[in-house]
Amino acid sequence: MSDLWQKCISNSGTLRGVAISCSELARELATVHQLSGEPAQAFGEALVAGFILASYCKAGERMNLNIKGDGGVKQALVDAYPDGTIRGYVVPNPQSAIQNYDLTGDGPWGKGTLSVLRKRDDQKGAEPYIGTVPLVTGHLAKDLTFYWSQSEQVPSAVGIAVNLDSEGKLATAGGFLVQAMPGATDAEIREIENQVTHMSNLARDIAAGSEPIAILATIFQNMQFVILEKKPLKAQCTCSEARMRRALTLVGASELQAMIDEVGEAVVKCDFCEKEYRASADELRKMIAESKA
Ligand SMILES: [Zn+2]
Repeated sequence: MSDLWQKCISNSGTLRGVAISCSELARELATVHQLSGEPAQAFGEALVAGFILASYCKAGERMNLNIKGDGGVKQALVDAYPDGTIRGYVVPNPQSAIQNYDLTGDGPWGKGTLSVLRKRDDQKGAEPYIGTVPLVTGHLAKDLTFYWSQSEQVPSAVGIAVNLDSEGKLATAGGFLVQAMPGATDAEIREIENQVTHMSNLARDIAAGSEPIAILATIFQNMQFVILEKKPLKAQCTCSEARMRRALTLVGASELQAMIDEVGEAVVKCDFCEKEYRASADELRKMIAESKA
């Protein structure tokens, strides 16, 4: 099954949900970054979290998820867009036994912080919205639930499931978010909470390739709901030759000269997609001349 998110709203209009299946692109990106074990687990979780965040932001906005931990990963950065595209990477913690993919109950994150930055790409200089909460449980789903109740004051339930294969490689990834809208009754919220706490089969459903709608049906069991959106998801980086050149002109003439002297060219690697961009000594000299003009 291809990667997609499906969004729904209860017939009462007071509960909304999104469920995500992104196994294919998560595998693809984990392979690009050569991840296995805890970093692969963490990366899968961060991708699902990115999609959950992006699913309810407006067109033209970008959600940036920045997680810093002291467990198997030091940092995870994910950019996710409401059009269903995503990019991201994790920085494994060299101090941890990263090849040990026999995960314990602590999760891959340890202690740290979870920051969410909402930015409009077309409004230069506009203050982005930032919310930060401590990583308290080591489990991203629980900490995101805390983020919504704390930073955005919306009663929410989040589930994230990532499965690794027997070699510790990322196999499947998916999750869901359900939120109570203004007007939701306590009974409705309790009902959803009850279903969510009993969703022990989320990881299994995701692994079996269930469509996101099957997850929503489990959560909304006794409530009628309508599907509002079904969107295909894909990995896509926003780096480009032009952006790399702009970044190079910002490092300064002396740094560029050092690159010419020491390497004979500039090699810039994108952290998000590992693509390498090169600028020859001649191009670098031109940049130096332009910076002095
Ligand atoms: Zn890139």
